[in-house]
Amino acid sequence: MYKWVRKQSSNTMPVTMSFKRRQTALVRVGDIRIGSDAPIAVQSMTNTDTADIDGTVAQVRALATAGSELVRITVNSAEAADAVPRIRERLDAAGVKVPLIGDFHFNGHKLLREYPDCAKALAKYRINPGNVGRGSKRDTQFAEMIEIACREDKPVRIGVNWGSLDQALLARLMDENNALPTPATAQTVMREAIVRSALESAALAEDVGLPHDRIILSAKVSAVQDLLAVYRLLAGRCDYPLHLGLTEAGMGSKGIVASTAGIGVLLADGIGDTIRVSLTPEPGGDRTQEVIVAQEILQTMGLRAFLPMVIACPGCGRTTSTYFQELAQRIQSHIRHRMPAWRAAHVGVEDMTVAVMGCVVNGPGESRHASLGISLPGTGERPVAPVYEDGEKTVTLKGDHIAEEFQDLIERYIDRKYPRRPAP
Ligand code: SF4
Repeated sequence: MYKWVRKQSSNTMPVTMSFKRRQTALVRVGDIRIGSDAPIAVQSMTNTDTADIDGTVAQVRALATAGSELVRITVNSAEAADAVPRIRERLDAAGVKVPLIGDFHFNGHKLLREYPDCAKALAKYRINPGNVGRGSKRDTQFAEMIEIACREDKPVRIGVNWGSLDQALLARLMDENNALPTPATAQTVMREAIVRSALESAALAEDVGLPHDRIILSAKVSAVQDLLAVYRLLAGRCDYPLHLGLTEAGMGSKGIVASTAGIGVLLADGIGDTIRVSLTPEPGGDRTQEVIVAQEILQTMGLRAFLPMVIACPGCGRTTSTYFQELAQRIQSHIRHRMPAWRAAHVGVEDMTVAVMGCVVNGPGESRHASLGISLPGTGERPVAPVYEDGEKTVTLKGDHIAEEFQDLIERYIDRKYPRRPAP
């Protein structure tokens, strides 16, 4: 049973949420534990050319700083494989310890064989069984990658993707289905083929010698209902840890909503040990958005806490100015910007909640439930902003510097409430 108690404020009862988390094996990826009772891990993937060492190091650093606990990089060419150990060295020299996962497809066996330093530098290999080779070469090339994983003592994610599903397996299952008196739908057979591809590949990996607790599975599809069905089938048939994510989730709000819907429902079912939100960035957009969304999914579901939550009302006709929206945005940015320093200096800051409310209707009430809350004046209200700390009104702000003064109150609250970490 995964149990998490959210501390609201000192004057309210704790809210306890329980998710019956699926029991799995525990897999170690570098220093990160995945599965069993380990926290659900956040992953991301670079979109740089891995052979571009400067660009890849910079993006891995940015993703790790944003909170990605594992970062996947594609290893698709000799140049990329050659770059991997140098990327690892540069990250280590900069104090960035995040484990790197190598994403391998058609030539993975060859690259892992010919670039042993690449095989050593990676913390995990991701292998797509639909893209390791055709016909008789498929199993031998897959086995070669697994043998290298065994030799280097690396875990493997067997990552099935419906866009590159093993066509021979799908054809076989379709033929078997067509021979049934009452055949299932093509969609049902496709889902079954995805699940079988993952499980049969895992069984083959174990036959080759990879220990059971060195395997993670994923089965990515692009439609939410398919994702739910496939992962529920997988969860019922094995105890490997599962990596969740919607593939080709899309851009902007569509990608965020689809990923949240799929991942959120599975997490609520107790399924999922690590997640990635595969967003297509806007041109020139920030790759770290996928990390922020993944953290927010886990935090809003009460499964993990990464940084203080800002609770802001949506605003309505009672507030004619955008001042409170700007303040909410400013506080959110301030918290994200300051969190690395707070986390390093204080214990438990991520549990704090901050409310920024637009008027007297819900403002004082919501502010009282937060660790720290401010209720801004709505239309026609006195131009004052009462501040609440742990449910008690402590001060009323007014004038032109409410934002700066509220940020200052947050800093002082953290200093007072959260114990300092001992010096290393
Ligand atoms: S708190 Fe006030 S401003 Fe905010 S949504 Fe509610 S009524 Fe509107």
